[in-house]
Amino acid sequence: MTSTTSINNNEPKKMALWLKILIGMIAGIIAGMLLGNNAEYIKPLGQLFISAIKMLIVPLIFCSLIVGVTSMKDTTKMGRIGVKSIVFYLATTAVAISIGLGLGLLFEPGAGLNMVATTVADAKPSPTLVDTIVSLVPKNPVGSLASGNILQIIVFALSLGIALNLIGEKGEPASKMFESLADAMYKLTELVMKLAPYGVFALMAWVSGKYGLDVLLPLIKVIGLVYLGCIIHVLVLGGGFVGLLGKLNPQRFYKGIIEAQIIAFTTTSSSGTLPASIKCATQNLGVSRTVSSFVLPVGATINMDGTALYQGVLALFIAQAFGIDLTTTDYLTIIATATLASVGTAGVPGAGLIMLSLVLTTVGLPLEGIAIVAGIDRILDMARTTINVTGDLMVTLLIGKSEGELNETLYNQNNTAAQPA
Ligand code: ASP
Repeated sequence: MTSTTSINNNEPKKMALWLKILIGMIAGIIAGMLLGNNAEYIKPLGQLFISAIKMLIVPLIFCSLIVGVTSMKDTTKMGRIGVKSIVFYLATTAVAISIGLGLGLLFEPGAGLNMVATTVADAKPSPTLVDTIVSLVPKNPVGSLASGNILQIIVFALSLGIALNLIGEKGEPASKMFESLADAMYKLTELVMKLAPYGVFALMAWVSGKYGLDVLLPLIKVIGLVYLGCIIHVLVLGGGFVGLLGKLNPQRFYKGIIEAQIIAFTTTSSSGTLPASIKCATQNLGVSRTVSSFVLPVGATINMDGTALYQGVLALFIAQAFGIDLTTTDYLTIIATATLASVGTAGVPGAGLIMLSLVLTTVGLPLEGIAIVAGIDRILDMARTTINVTGDLMVTLLIGKSEGELNETLYNQNNTAAQPA
């Protein structure tokens, strides 16, 4: 699977996929600026790409998770990986909210806007932990597969994998079938990813054609702060977690995940980016398929660092814009609600905006705040989804390392220089 570093001089050098995707993105921005609203006509090409990657998600997660369990046999290891994932995911989310709140307090993006609220939301409770846990178990697994409920699919795939192990020899034919299907899904992911440069081009052209500078300028301070917070968080994840905690080279991490980051940036869906994330984790970072196929789908559903950071900035922005003072309890409520709300919410475009209304409602801030930013939400979603995916990949890398499931030779190789055949 890995590329070779020896290059035959007679063969033309192949351009790395991540570079092609990056070029597609930049070309898309330029095309969108030139075409303006006409870039809408290119959008179907982007939608085609999104549909192609969405097509992979359910079978890829389902088959690779079953194979993960049947090839591991050791269920306590699976449990340990699960606990570690949750601890790491919560820790990175906490860091992200703190960055968001810190920036919001420091730069006061909403100060001086003097907006007047006509309706103030009644404080409503957020979904309880018990509700979230009860909804994890699917009543009808076929229904969960059909509707793409990732957490329920994870629970069913893990249970089925454990059952296949328990029946010993009798389970082998089914395990082999899932193994072969998982391999086919990995191959299909590689093929679909070859379309990424064109899909990314079309999506970027559409976004930059639609959101001209005049739409963005009035909210430039809040956009700038969300992007600044995201950059800080990426540096903390790479430098602090990968470098200091994981004792791994952060540059390799950044280079290995860039494909997934660009797909996240342009599709604004961490679930949709899953096939690309799994490909980056296994082929570029060297994390085993077992760990990647378990930790990444969980992360795409429950770990949303970028979304949490965005909620911190936006809650303060809205409070400041409407001249509402927040108490210490309000800050704690924002932290708790933003963390809880991200669990169980699918990584789909715009989900963060819905979660924001939940946070505002819980602390009694005016929901009109949502209307101010809804128009530019896509621009903020691009940044937060990229960070969501970066957080998931970072946690996968660290868990891979701590479980002895990381191929460090592959990690340290310049393995994204050429694409596997
Ligand atoms: N679009 C984000 C994601 O898929 C969720 C959000 O809207 O914040 O990760």
